[in-house]
Amino acid sequence: MAENRVVQGRMVTPTKLGEIIEGEDVMDADAIETADRECPRCGEDVLEVGYMPDITEYVTGWKCQECDWRETDRAE
Ligand SMILES: [Zn+2]
Repeated sequence: MAENRVVQGRMVTPTKLGEIIEGEDVMDADAIETADRECPRCGEDVLEVGYMPDITEYVTGWKCQECDWRETDRAE
């Protein structure tokens, strides 16, 4: 289900949210979920989305709905 969500005042699709987290184009993304955590920077709600930056990689990413904070499950 491709449900759009509001992020920093803009409606975004799952693919667009993946692109915001990744910082570049992504191939595909799963539905956006509300993550069971709060933003460590501002305390607001965090969205979670699984996306494919390319055909061989699947990343779970998190993005605050209110500020620029974002994170992925990639090993740093
Ligand atoms: Zn935040």
